[in-house]
Amino acid sequence: MASRNQNRPPRSPSTRKEIGDENPLDKRRRLGAVGRGVGATATGRTRRAFSAVNNLQDATTAANAEVGNAEECHEFTKEEVEAILNERPKAKKFDLKAKYEHAAEHNKRLKLCVKWFQQCDENHVLDKEKLKNSLESAEKKCIDTELEKKNKEEELNAVISELRDSNASLQDKLSKEVSEKLDAINRHKSEIEARVTAEKSVASLTEDLQKAQQDIAAANERAASLDNTHKRLQEYILSLQQYNSKLITDLETVRESLKRVEKEKLTIVENLSSLRGHCSSLQEQLTLSRASQDDAVNQKETLVNEVKCLRGELQQVRDDREHQVSKVQALSAEIVKFKESTGRSFAELDNLTMKSKSLEETCSSQREQLRILELQLAAANEKLKMADLSASETRVEYLEQKRTIQELQDRLADMEHKLIEGENLRKKLHNTILELKGNIRVFCRVRPLLPDDGAAEGAVVSYPTSTESLGRGIDLIQNGQKYPFTFDKVFNPEASQQDVFVEISQLVQSALDGYKVCIFAYGQTGSGKTYTMMGRPEAQEQKGLIPRSLEQIFQSSQSLQAQGWKYKMQASMLEIYNETIRDLLSTNRSIGSDPTRAESAVSGKQYTIKHDANGNTHVSDLTIVDVSTITEISSLLRQAAQSRSVGRTQMNEQSSRSHMVFTLRISGINEGTEQQVQGVLNLIDLAGSERLSKSGATGDRLKETQAINKSLSSLSDVIFALAKKEDHVPFRNSKLTYLLQPCLGGDSKTLMFVNVSPDPSSVGESLCSLRFAARVNACEIGVPRRQMTLRAADSRLSCG
Ligand code: ADP
Ligand code: MG
Repeated sequence: MASRNQNRPPRSPSTRKEIGDENPLDKRRRLGAVGRGVGATATGRTRRAFSAVNNLQDATTAANAEVGNAEECHEFTKEEVEAILNERPKAKKFDLKAKYEHAAEHNKRLKLCVKWFQQCDENHVLDKEKLKNSLESAEKKCIDTELEKKNKEEELNAVISELRDSNASLQDKLSKEVSEKLDAINRHKSEIEARVTAEKSVASLTEDLQKAQQDIAAANERAASLDNTHKRLQEYILSLQQYNSKLITDLETVRESLKRVEKEKLTIVENLSSLRGHCSSLQEQLTLSRASQDDAVNQKETLVNEVKCLRGELQQVRDDREHQVSKVQALSAEIVKFKESTGRSFAELDNLTMKSKSLEETCSSQREQLRILELQLAAANEKLKMADLSASETRVEYLEQKRTIQELQDRLADMEHKLIEGENLRKKLHNTILELKGNIRVFCRVRPLLPDDGAAEGAVVSYPTSTESLGRGIDLIQNGQKYPFTFDKVFNPEASQQDVFVEISQLVQSALDGYKVCIFAYGQTGSGKTYTMMGRPEAQEQKGLIPRSLEQIFQSSQSLQAQGWKYKMQASMLEIYNETIRDLLSTNRSIGSDPTRAESAVSGKQYTIKHDANGNTHVSDLTIVDVSTITEISSLLRQAAQSRSVGRTQMNEQSSRSHMVFTLRISGINEGTEQQVQGVLNLIDLAGSERLSKSGATGDRLKETQAINKSLSSLSDVIFALAKKEDHVPFRNSKLTYLLQPCLGGDSKTLMFVNVSPDPSSVGESLCSLRFAARVNACEIGVPRRQMTLRAADSRLSCG
């Protein structure tokens, strides 16, 4: 059946296509096969076909059916075709019918065969076209492939040239690498050499290492020895600390002994006063007894005189009596004479008798009196004797008492001397401690209650009496709560101006020694700042710190003259109000109608502040007064007080809103030792620190409020910045701090008085002041330094 299929004409497009796609060679082969198949193969079918032809007569019906099929799809082999062509009628010569049938059959078959041929031809034409097409396409393909081939060749050529290039480059590289390799080999050789040397150096290094290890061991030993010394040093430090604590305890004991001495002094003073009282009472007694003795003597004398008088009187009376008696006799004679003649004389007589009787009575009474007087005289004599005795006794006692008093006085003087020495020592030690600590010192002073103050609703300030805070502590009570504070010293209202001055006199003294000293008074208005600083210079007891300091400086400078020191002093006094400077010592001050106007604006004076390289401050146009006597000082202070008081009457408000700065520049030269010192003493009465309500303040008032707040806050800013050792200290933020810049730095001595009012209505402000002062008290602003040089070329005093 396979061969049949091969020779079957194309019937469907798909089959045709299959053939079209076939190779033309295959097609040829199939034709051959067709030929061969006709000759040799498909015997089965051939046989059937021939049998079908041969057995036509035998099975006509079957053949008919087969012909019906063959008309459609019968295929012919070569043999069959030849058989058909060569076929001869087998019928009998005259069997026309059979001949006809056979011819018809043969015809039919021929027709079929022709049909098949035609079909085959058609197929062949188609195949030919197909083959032609395929040939064309194959040719095209061939051309394409050739083109491709050419392209590929070109590509390959390009690749080859590339490869050649790369080859050349690779060769270059190779040569380079070869040279590198050579280099590397050389380097390797040199490395090997280096290695050899390195090994050598390693050996030497190991030696070094050993040495270093030895060194380390030695260093360790040294470290151990250092440790030992460190330990010893620590022990030494410990011992120093112990020594220090011992010194502190010594200081404490000195203080305690001082206190004891003070107590002893007090008891001695009490004793002395009691003894004095006793002595004076004894003296009084003595004088009394002397007086009584004198009285008695006088009395005796008077009594004697009286007695004499009385005796005389008695004599007189006796004489009188005798006279009377004689008179009576005469009268009785006369009576007798005139008895009868004068009845009137009876009455006279009666009178006379009565007189005589009364005289007799007086006489007897006088006699009695005389007796009493004599008795009294005896008693007085006795008393006199007694008084003489007691007087001598009293005298002895008095002498004894006098001696004891003398003894006690000597002891007292001794003790007082010791006390003063001890006190001086204490102050010096305290001073040294504070100098070492570098603190800014803060003293607190509470003024007494004034009549104007509010009713005493109970004390708001109290002073702790414990030993460690005695004289240093102050407790403020607000709304039942107690706020304790401790300062370097607390002065209660009983402290006098002298008591306060004694505490700062050391500081004043250091201005003479070449230190820069600043003393501030801080507190609300009415708390006693001006009283503390200036006081009342006209009243000896109420002089403030400024007059007292000046007096002390003069006295000390005079006593230092003996050691070759010569001092020159210059004073200036200014006021800063609303950041403008007013000269308080200016002689042509304009006591003008408008005191609120800055003076500088009136007089055209500038008052600019400048500091020179030596830390001296100059204020241009400021009056500088050379002072050399105390009288000059007092007139100066009077002038300043007047300047301020002129201001005060006119700007009552302002005086509490301005800072007053008194400056004394002291320049000392020692001719003998060629030493030179330059000290400055600044005493500052600050503006009232009360918090001013900003609400409602406008215009000048607002400006003033801002100026005060600014200058006081910049003062505290400066102090706190110094304490924190900040790089930038805002000295320039206010006139006051800028003016005091050299005196506020680390090498000056600064003291702040915080003045407190005990008035219960001021307790809020007092608390603020004390809190601020406590913060200041905690500050360390450096260690004071004395400005002392050997005589410099320019010994001129700086001004301001
Ligand atoms: P401030 O200058 O702080 O405004 P003052 O110095 O003017 O205060 O003092 C107010 C009042 O209190 C003055 O009348 C002053 O005499 C009086 N005063 C202040 N301190 C004392 C004191 N320690 N002893 C007696 N009176 C004082
Ligand atoms: Mg004042």
